[in-house]
Amino acid sequence: MFGRAPKKSDNTKYYEILGVPKNASQDDLKKAYRKAAIKNHPDKGGDPEKFKELAQAYEVLSDPEKREIYDQYGEDALKEGMGGGGGGVDPFDIFSSFFGPSFGGGGGSSRGRRQRRGEDVIHPLKASLEDLYNGTSKKLSLSRNVLCSKCKGKGSKSGASMRCPGCQGSGMKVTIRQLGPSMIQQVQHACNECKGTGESINEKDRCQGCKGEKVVQEKKVLEVHVEKGMQHNQKITFPGEADEAPDTVTGDIVFVVQQKEHPKFKRKGDDLFYEHTLSLTEALCGFQLVLTHLDNRQLLIKSNPGEIVKPDSFKAISDEGMPMYQRPFMKGKLYIHFTVEFPDSLAPEQCKALEAVLPPKPVSKLTDMELDECEETTLHDVNNMEEEMRRKAQAAAQEAYDEDDDMPGGGAQRVQCAQQ
Ligand SMILES: [Zn+2]
Ligand SMILES: [Zn+2]
Repeated sequence: MFGRAPKKSDNTKYYEILGVPKNASQDDLKKAYRKAAIKNHPDKGGDPEKFKELAQAYEVLSDPEKREIYDQYGEDALKEGMGGGGGGVDPFDIFSSFFGPSFGGGGGSSRGRRQRRGEDVIHPLKASLEDLYNGTSKKLSLSRNVLCSKCKGKGSKSGASMRCPGCQGSGMKVTIRQLGPSMIQQVQHACNECKGTGESINEKDRCQGCKGEKVVQEKKVLEVHVEKGMQHNQKITFPGEADEAPDTVTGDIVFVVQQKEHPKFKRKGDDLFYEHTLSLTEALCGFQLVLTHLDNRQLLIKSNPGEIVKPDSFKAISDEGMPMYQRPFMKGKLYIHFTVEFPDSLAPEQCKALEAVLPPKPVSKLTDMELDECEETTLHDVNNMEEEMRRKAQAAAQEAYDEDDDMPGGGAQRVQCAQQ
């Protein structure tokens, strides 16, 4: 228009929208915007598009830096980001900076709406030990909120949303009740008009795509790679795939590996543990075992000739444990825990036969006479040593508690206990 700068674009439109001359002062701009905004507010039946334009024009011209860019290079320069972007203004924010309750008349700026970070969505991801040994990928279908593409997450056709008139945007309402001549009660509750969101969108202006909700549900299939050697509670993160919401940095979807119990193998870090029970004969005379591994390989495990396997003993096979995470060619150990099943009783002739082949019993150093002077005892079975110890500890604790009770102040507690 003026032919001054090569990249020049229209730089008069904003002045025309507000109906002010190019040399208008800040005060002139304020007055002009104030008047026009009230007239064109969508809630008062105004044109939402016009309302938005007013806010945009005012937002730029009221900022000296942006105004200078606009004056020199026009609207396009601002759109290209020279002034920090002029497109993302919320016309209702600007409006309420004039009329909202929290922005008095000080002329202070109403900006400073900081971007929240959306919540991460955590999903447990069940994985069998086979999955974690061999690696696998799982396709998971999730539904999540995405910003409505029709209204770009504004919820309205015009891009306008406004502070709920019922609560002035706070989302809360305070009701004052007169209880008596000089007594009032204040009750705070969520605003019923906006359901606590603090926002409302004019019915006519509501976006058809999302019905004013700003977001729509989207089904998404995520392919989750469970890598070899991953551990229980290890996280697999999909950054920025959680629910989208307006003015919010989208959170992550995080899958947390939940290792399932395995009927045969237990895992400790990179090592595997396998329980095997031998008969007494196997323990003494040798055994052979075919073990199906987590990748279905058959491992042949056998004792050395003449070797005796003792009860509650461990043996290990190197490199047959779990693969290490991100170094799957390295593997932990496979430990085998042996339990030996003893016969409950033996017939006298079996004892004789065994005594003939087993190492001799230790010889008693006491004479029969000395033995006669010993006291006879009875052995009884202890089936569960842990249980036995637990009961003992409980009894001891109770005793200590009873002693405590005799001290001052302990009486009340006892009364309470007795009532239960
Ligand atoms: Zn409200
Ligand atoms: Zn929409």
